Amino acid sequence: MISMTHVHKVYTGGVHALHDVSLSVTAGEMVGIIGPSGSGKSTMLHLLGALDRPSDGCVRIDGQDLSQLSDRGLAHLRARTLGFVFQQFHLAPGVSALDNVADGLLYCGVRRRDRRRLAVQALVRVGLEHRAHHRPHQLSGGEQQRVAVARALIGDPPVLLADEPTGNLDSAAGQTVMGILHDLHAAGTTIIIITHDQEIASGLPRRVRLRDGRLSER
Ligand code: ADP
Repeated sequence: MISMTHVHKVYTGGVHALHDVSLSVTAGEMVGIIGPSGSGKSTMLHLLGALDRPSDGCVRIDGQDLSQLSDRGLAHLRARTLGFVFQQFHLAPGVSALDNVADGLLYCGVRRRDRRRLAVQALVRVGLEHRAHHRPHQLSGGEQQRVAVARALIGDPPVLLADEPTGNLDSAAGQTVMGILHDLHAAGTTIIIITHDQEIASGLPRRVRLRDGRLSER
């Protein structure tokens, strides 16, 4: 479903953030990327999410070699294939949960009425339909992250990429969000998740570890 082969990432300024990283994730897998701060986790997720390009090596998503795609092609692939969840929830302030979720389909050519109908369904999947008309500041951190998960899910992407999704949550809210991700995995979504949290990492079916930009399986 997603793979990296002999990938290097060197940032302007000379930081060699990834060294010869290869990883293959098959459809339906749930994989944790773990490692200390600065080890290259976010860099790796950005490359897997077609948000950035490698300095060397090959990234493939759903059979497509990203180096063969234009920026527009990458944006199209992202919209069709990938859902993103970040540590910071990135919800629009002053906008209801329903419309925050519906906006996940803004560039997909879906009419507003249909976007809102699908948004209700996505909120049901994260157990928050009763909060549809609340705005972000009226929601707890855990609820805001569940809205962000619903936004990532609305287009039914086969792959979900999550960068420290529980990093800003207390442990109970973190467990709720992880429960939702595990349910999505059980229903067939491919999930790649960055986490610092040992307990969360130990609950994942597969883990890879980054250290100084080098990857090992464990
Ligand atoms: P992690 O997510 O594990 O904390 P990152 O992927 O954010 O690690 O960073 C890996 C290395 O790359 C770090 O040394 C970081 O300072 C550097 N880095 C990350 N993003 C950039 C960037 N846009 N420009 C230059 N250096 C960067």
